[in-house]
Amino acid sequence: MLSIENLHASVEDGESTREILKGLDLEIWPGEVHAIMGPNGAGKSTLGHIIAGKDGYDVTEGTISFNDENLLEMAPEERAAAGIFLAFQYPVEVPGVATMTFLKAALNAQREARGEKALSTPEFMKAVKTAADKLGVKQEMLRRPINVGFSGGEKKRNEIMQMALLQPKLAVLDETDSGLDIDALRIVSEGVNSLRSPERSFLVITHYQRLLDYIVPDHVHVLAGGRIVRSGGPELAKELEERGYAEFLEAA
Ligand code: ADP
Ligand code: MG
Ligand code: MG
Repeated sequence: MLSIENLHASVEDGESTREILKGLDLEIWPGEVHAIMGPNGAGKSTLGHIIAGKDGYDVTEGTISFNDENLLEMAPEERAAAGIFLAFQYPVEVPGVATMTFLKAALNAQREARGEKALSTPEFMKAVKTAADKLGVKQEMLRRPINVGFSGGEKKRNEIMQMALLQPKLAVLDETDSGLDIDALRIVSEGVNSLRSPERSFLVITHYQRLLDYIVPDHVHVLAGGRIVRSGGPELAKELEERGYAEFLEAA
């Protein structure tokens, strides 16, 4: 599904450019859940951003293919239309826009990019109800302005709702370094687990092992020094929690 080979990427840092990813390889097959762990500043979010097509990064070497298409030649909207979803980076508040309205716009933008007809209001309501019921989201929340006054947990629930509606083929979840409280952790992991399927893959980016007690990944990778320096099963996450990242930083 996703195949990354020898990825080198830089960011503009004032006058100079800095290479963040230095030959990263990663392969994800349909239905797999991969976790990327690594020290703060390792380039985990950079990887997520590059997959989603966020600008500000310069890919200087290497390839990324998604279902045999050259992802690096696709615009961010085309990537979303092809089924790539990046969660948890921008919990923006949008006063005056009901969550429902936002979700409808997101879903119809994806359909338009795929050359599909926009959903009618009844069709959309049905899709929302299905997703909301599956995730235990109350209709009341969907009428409130997006993220305004939402608790951390409600913001996560909202993102998971969006993910359930868009039905991505590859969902990239970036936990961010602040981590999640227990409530949000439960919401995210239950949501992800309920959306796991043989056709859908997840790339779970996290600094902490805790999340992986709830979302048990098939593969765990350590990102350090701009590359995947070690891969293993769920037990690797436990090992990292006990031993930390120091040895990887020294080796990198
Ligand atoms: P992680 O998510 O693993 O903590 P990031 O991908 O956020 O790491 O960042 C990797 C490195 O790249 C950090 O040193 C960070 O300061 C730098 N970096 C990331 N994005 C930018 C940017 N837009 N401009 C300048 N430096 C950046
Ligand atoms: Mg960081
Ligand atoms: Mg990060």
